[in-house]
Amino acid sequence: MARRILPYRPLPATETTSILSRLLGQEATTTDRVIYVHIPFCKHICPFCIYSKQIPESAETVKAYCETLLKQIQSVSSTVWAKSAPFKAVFFGGGTPTFLPAEQLTAIVSSIKKHYPLTPDCEITVESTISEITPEYCSKMKEAGVNRISLGVQSFNTEIRKKLGRAANTEKILEALNTIKESGFSNIAIDLIYMLEGQTMETWKRDLQLLAGAPITGCSVYPLITIPGSSKVSEDLKQEYRYFSEADRFLAELGGWQRFTPVQYGHSVNGTANYVTSHGKNADLLAFGAGAGGRIQNFMYLQNNNAEAFIKTGSDLAAAPMIGMKIDEQFLHLRNIYGLSEGLQLKKSEFEPLAGDFSKTVQSLIEQGFAESISGGFRLTHLGRFWAANISALFSEEIKRILLEK
Ligand code: SF4
Repeated sequence: MARRILPYRPLPATETTSILSRLLGQEATTTDRVIYVHIPFCKHICPFCIYSKQIPESAETVKAYCETLLKQIQSVSSTVWAKSAPFKAVFFGGGTPTFLPAEQLTAIVSSIKKHYPLTPDCEITVESTISEITPEYCSKMKEAGVNRISLGVQSFNTEIRKKLGRAANTEKILEALNTIKESGFSNIAIDLIYMLEGQTMETWKRDLQLLAGAPITGCSVYPLITIPGSSKVSEDLKQEYRYFSEADRFLAELGGWQRFTPVQYGHSVNGTANYVTSHGKNADLLAFGAGAGGRIQNFMYLQNNNAEAFIKTGSDLAAAPMIGMKIDEQFLHLRNIYGLSEGLQLKKSEFEPLAGDFSKTVQSLIEQGFAESISGGFRLTHLGRFWAANISALFSEEIKRILLEK
């Protein structure tokens, strides 16, 4: 949301198509590249959810969506841009990707593996929910080449989960995690949310202890994001800080774990999260599916989030109706600054070309205790990690000022 402050200029539909076609006809300008695939379907809608999702009308809708998705994936695969450098992560998000029958999901995984250059250690993540984890489904994902599972947990506490509309109890969650591990996955991530209804510091500490005892190698931790009409939530900032502090210290001290971003923690070998960390590095993002948002260089696009409309018009990515936006090319030189607020630290070599524009802001962050100098650069402090989204917004404001003053 902080990046929405940036002065992206909306483009007319014809210009969107021609810019995307031109970019796909050129070599990539960065080796930081990731793919996102959106599966917008869920069995039921959770009250706290902010993502683009829907309950599909029928199995036919789901089948037709997957067929269009496969065509869209193939439509880009032969372009110069797609072939010019490998992708280091593929992320299936939603919605619930495992809502799809295993054959449909693995056909999409196989298509990407067949048609796109991927790094040898490319991380292929599928998001799932507890109720959809079975030994058979996990084996099929493993066979297809999926190597990371991200499981929506939010809380291990059965009562708190009930308030979120989640049926599985603590035992079921642990059972699902063991099933994933026994199916051969070594990179297993979950999310934990704080500021939930009914949560206390005691339940939060219990959540963290259960995480430590389960076969989990990575975790994203964040406060409930409120949108109008979403779950009831307290806006007690001090309490929010206490929850954050407890998790931030606990997770970074787990054996072999480290912080990857202000919200992502994991084991340094088995818990990497290349897709998530690519955001702080401003990787190019090739996004497929209804409601999926991608970015190539200084061009950003957002596909129509209606699955039925996507089925009718989405086969060819460059020609699909979408919102396209562009920002001044100078942004490509300025965007490294997000490494501090979204990736935790900034190297001097990345900062120095920007120094004139950002040195006052970084200095002020240091003076107020949000950042500190380290050998070769700067990094966020504990306080800075809590306020990371606001620091991103601060940088967005600075970038906007620079680009509009030009
Ligand atoms: S299952 Fe996930 S994507 Fe679907 S409504 Fe619930 S939180 Fe949102």
